[in-house]
Amino acid sequence: MKTFVCLFLAALVCLPAGARKKENPMKSTGMRYIETHFQEYDALQKRIHGYAELGYLEYKSSKELADHLAANGFQVEMGVAEIPTAFVATFGSGSPVVGLLGEFDALPGMSQDTCAYKCPRVAGAPGHGCGHNLLGTGPCAAAVAISKWLAEGHTGTVKYFGCPAEEGGGGKSYMAKAGCFNGCDVMLDWHPASENSVMLTPGLANVRVNFTFHGKAAHASGAPWNGRSALDAVEAFNYMMNLMREHVRPETRIHYIISNGGKAPNTVPDEAQAVYYLRCAKGSEVLALLERAVKAAEGAAMGTGTTMRYEVVNGNYERLLNHRLSEVYLKNLRLVGGVILDAREKAFCAEVLRNSGKEADLSNFERIPDALAPAQASGTSSDVGNVSQLVPLAKLTVTTNVKDAGVHCWQQTAVGGTTVGTKAALNVARIQYLTALDIFTSPGLVKEIWQEYYSVQGHDFRYVPLMGDRKPPLDYSK
Ligand SMILES: [Zn+2]
Repeated sequence: MKTFVCLFLAALVCLPAGARKKENPMKSTGMRYIETHFQEYDALQKRIHGYAELGYLEYKSSKELADHLAANGFQVEMGVAEIPTAFVATFGSGSPVVGLLGEFDALPGMSQDTCAYKCPRVAGAPGHGCGHNLLGTGPCAAAVAISKWLAEGHTGTVKYFGCPAEEGGGGKSYMAKAGCFNGCDVMLDWHPASENSVMLTPGLANVRVNFTFHGKAAHASGAPWNGRSALDAVEAFNYMMNLMREHVRPETRIHYIISNGGKAPNTVPDEAQAVYYLRCAKGSEVLALLERAVKAAEGAAMGTGTTMRYEVVNGNYERLLNHRLSEVYLKNLRLVGGVILDAREKAFCAEVLRNSGKEADLSNFERIPDALAPAQASGTSSDVGNVSQLVPLAKLTVTTNVKDAGVHCWQQTAVGGTTVGTKAALNVARIQYLTALDIFTSPGLVKEIWQEYYSVQGHDFRYVPLMGDRKPPLDYSK
């Protein structure tokens, strides 16, 4: 018997690597790494929660993440796409190349302590109401976990993209223009939410455009015949745009503010400005609508004796979500499961719900979907759309907040800054790690994903940035 066992073991050792029993990904190196590093990532996400830096000003937050990746053997390129807080961290070599998107900018006015009622840390200051303290940390843990597995002698590359200013600054649109995402085989995205899901909703493509008119100042009563009102031009322009609403597709959205309407009623305004958001189902439709809007603005200027200039401040394509990659993401979400709260965390979240006037229903943390969340009509836009035009991308949501609260609210800032947020971020890390392993170990999967991508984009797709040649608006929040 002893001889038999020895012979059996010797045979096992002599087997080629491919013929050995396939390793169980759930028990592999990266999963053990995530399991044993809770404290480290809990502290990391809480530091970023505390910094709460606005878009393009996330110096401390992006440095935390970049330093952590560098300390774990990643090659970090800081300041990509002419943005000081944008970076790319790379580990491994060869194909496939798995990309992970991280964000870390806060929202103005969302300051909130980690208490169960509305309680700003600093009144009026920024806060992580969109959960980007977790959005950066989860994929960072995933990237390190993947690197531990690659370091065992596997072939492939993982890239973490530190993407600034998602909230209105469009960091990824400039990174896309600079070619940062080129060469990736797949891109894994996620966002904090009130539910666990893998979504297929594409959202809308959009541009933000400033239309500025210049006229001639004069006393509004003493010599109005000498004046040419820039505000008249804005009003004529807005009137034409409001007529245009009847002649656009139903999903199109047109909204504006008058950001400058003059200084005083008794002076004919020589400068006025309207800021527009134009949103359509596709980026190409947005460009066509922009052309019509520019004609209306030129007409308004002509009719009022003023001049007009416009600037596209930000532009995002719709999200092109890859169905095949989403299926793999969903399979791994189901393997990992929901966010399991302990008694203390349950009591805290129940209290947050009570203070929001809602029932203490915590089922959204553990609930796991059976299927992909079907595409729905949604009016929102994101700079992730730009990345998805270039690389097959899938989007996950993990529960980081109490039921139905969503994001951009004090509840997200409060819950996301506790261990509940850390647990959610590490679930993301596990799901992304397992998905990366599927990409690395399933021959043919990348090909299937790209076949789907090509069936939509074609083989000679050329990326046209919607905001043209503009430089990153590093001071946009001022
Ligand atoms: Zn967000």
